[in-house]
Amino acid sequence: MSQCPRCAQPIDSQAIKCPYCNNPLKAFGHPGIPLYQAEKDEFLCDRCIYHEDDSCNYPQRPYAKTCTLFRDITATLEEEKTPIYTLSLKSKITAWCRTNQFLLGILFLLILSFILTITN
Ligand code: SF4
Ligand SMILES: [Zn+2]
Repeated sequence: MSQCPRCAQPIDSQAIKCPYCNNPLKAFGHPGIPLYQAEKDEFLCDRCIYHEDDSCNYPQRPYAKTCTLFRDITATLEEEKTPIYTLSLKSKITAWCRTNQFLLGILFLLILSFILTITN
């Protein structure tokens, strides 16, 4: 369940429009295209990453009250702080060995020749 940005009633996250106030919640009437909406007295562009990096060329910029492309800069910053995945120590060692096979081969030959020298 999510909340209607206009009337704050609980609504189905797939709803195309709010059943209480008819506020459109999806763009072009398609449930797969979210329509982001600004709160009262705010503009979406103020906290949109595409406004921040100056890559947006939408005509409603910088006063967009609704937008399909809006991307929250604070959420993006949080995503960047969180690593997508972390490798286990075993995986790190395996990856290192794969990329340094030549070095490991030389090390193996050195150790082998050292052992042969000592035993003779
Ligand atoms: S993508 Fe939408 S919210 Fe973002 S800067 Fe452009 S018009 Fe504003
Ligand atoms: Zn509503």
